[in-house]
Amino acid sequence: MKQERGSCMTEVYTRDRGVATANPQEDRGVGKIIEAAKALIPTIDLADLLCGPGQMRRVGDRWVARCPLPDHDERTASFTVYPGDRGWWCYGCGRGGDVVDLARIAWGFPDDGRGAAEAAGFLLLEFGHEIPERKPAWFRRQERQAPIRDRIEQTRVEHIRLLVFRLLWMPWLRRLPEDIREEATADAWAESRHTARQLYGQRRGA
Ligand SMILES: [Zn+2]
Repeated sequence: MKQERGSCMTEVYTRDRGVATANPQEDRGVGKIIEAAKALIPTIDLADLLCGPGQMRRVGDRWVARCPLPDHDERTASFTVYPGDRGWWCYGCGRGGDVVDLARIAWGFPDDGRGAAEAAGFLLLEFGHEIPERKPAWFRRQERQAPIRDRIEQTRVEHIRLLVFRLLWMPWLRRLPEDIREEATADAWAESRHTARQLYGQRRGA
């Protein structure tokens, strides 16, 4: 940790990430984006989006699900989100952190300090917030990277899918007799991806 670096924003940033960049001006912008994302988006909201509806289960005061991270395929629920927005931890792959860490790992941004800020930027956009300060050049660069763009696009489709499922299917599913509800829910969830892809395609084509 580097104490000599100027503003308290920089200190927060370097302390949290253990990474320093060469330009103090840039550090402040980076810290601001990360702090904004952490303040505005609860970890559970992103976790819910990445895991899918009904996948996060309450166990005591925690939420657990199967790990949504791309390189961890598991059968048991090791992925844990702690109450009071104290972050997340996956007992299967030994990774954890705050909401920005989750976005960074889920979307494949590099673990180099800048990757966290880029993930925070996309996180803010994804949940309908503004990005503080003008979009820096490295942020635009990341936007063009195909694997990251694909993964973020996937998350966007899942976002729409979640809305479709909640708004269109849930009210109908609730009225079904219990013995057929589970199968109907699975069908509806599959169907809402189809609908979400169509809606996403229309929005992009417009
Ligand atoms: Zn995991």
